[in-house]
Amino acid sequence: MEHEHVREADPAVATALADEVDRQRNTLSMIASENHASRAVVDAQGSVLTNKYAEGYPGERYYAGCGPADAVEELAIERAKELWGADHVNVQPHSGSQANMAVYLATLDPGDRILSLELEHGGHLSHGHPANFAGQLFEVEQYRVDPETGYLDYEGLADIADEFDPDAIVSGFSAYPRTVDWERIDAVADAVDAYHVADIAHITGLVAAGVHPSPVGIADFVTGSTHKTIRAGRGGMIMCGEEHADAVDNAVFPGVQGGPLMHNVAGKAVGFGEALEDSFTEYAEQVVANARALGETLADAGLTLVSGGTDTHLVLVDLRDSHPDLSGGDAEAALESAGIVLNGNTVPGETRSPFDPSGIRAGTAALTTRGFDEAAIREVGDLIVRVLDAPTDEAVLAAVSERVDELCAAHPLYE
Ligand SMILES: *Cc1c(COP(=O)(O)O)cnc(C)c1O
Repeated sequence: MEHEHVREADPAVATALADEVDRQRNTLSMIASENHASRAVVDAQGSVLTNKYAEGYPGERYYAGCGPADAVEELAIERAKELWGADHVNVQPHSGSQANMAVYLATLDPGDRILSLELEHGGHLSHGHPANFAGQLFEVEQYRVDPETGYLDYEGLADIADEFDPDAIVSGFSAYPRTVDWERIDAVADAVDAYHVADIAHITGLVAAGVHPSPVGIADFVTGSTHKTIRAGRGGMIMCGEEHADAVDNAVFPGVQGGPLMHNVAGKAVGFGEALEDSFTEYAEQVVANARALGETLADAGLTLVSGGTDTHLVLVDLRDSHPDLSGGDAEAALESAGIVLNGNTVPGETRSPFDPSGIRAGTAALTTRGFDEAAIREVGDLIVRVLDAPTDEAVLAAVSERVDELCAAHPLYE
């Protein structure tokens, strides 16, 4: 990771890139939406395909010279079909949010109705938050998790759907630690004649590996990102049945995007290829085992986990019981100063602000990529607890930071 050409041409940017490599190497990345892509994926995304215009789709481009671009996109599509068992895949969305935007464009008219999970209960901005285009173009109603159990309130969802009569129900979440019952949500969508859009952004890798049930073949549309639990570099994707293939392709291009980021499509092809190897299933199983171990360690130390635990790659901690004076933002800052990088997060029944919420969210996808097993993750959990218990104690922060350095050295990255 020398970036020697950048170093020659632009030392200031090269220094920032080198700092980022060091930061990833020397801190524990526990942001649940992040991972470490392989050098092969990073190389593909940093390739000269960044120069190429390839508006259109393989075999039907609006530009000459698209032979290699076609080859790359066809590989990405073929591998995605194999990974997720989808009839049709569009690998061009620049991100998960663009994937959702394209699906809305393919299915809805302005003023139509979207029913989605409330943001502070684990939803996503692109599911209809007022600050997002989806909240501005569509009429949005929201369902929730059960405040007692932290599990999705499927009955509440059905009741709201009956009353609201949505045109689309969005499932799939950003901060929900439990297995989603896609069939149950799909039955609600069917009953009110709404499209079901399952946004598996966080769990694309877990679904591909079969460690979380798949909505492919159940929901009408499945959207995802390619850089979270699957390590295919930054980007988005859409899967659907053949009956929606043309609508989706036209909505992505020319609907919401121009030329695809072919360098990122190349990264997707490489990352999907890696995920087809047997070792990826082991990886995904370890991600979930690690998240369970992390959750147990935190719960044993007296922290409150939303839903009491996890079935996925993330845990969501509600700090209000155990650390009533510590906000999620302050916890995030204290942990970062000790080399543990995660994010403050809203929790169901949030009583602080989204900018400084009451919880923290931690994921295990990136640490598992570095080879952390349950024992190592339990130690990380202990370190987190030490910081939360003494967030301003310089001696504690220094001791934790030193141990973080040792753990990073023992789990090298990008050698
Ligand atoms: C991360 C995420 C997305 C995609 O976000 P981008 O940053 O646009 O790639 C979409 N939906 C959910 C539920 C997410 O968690």
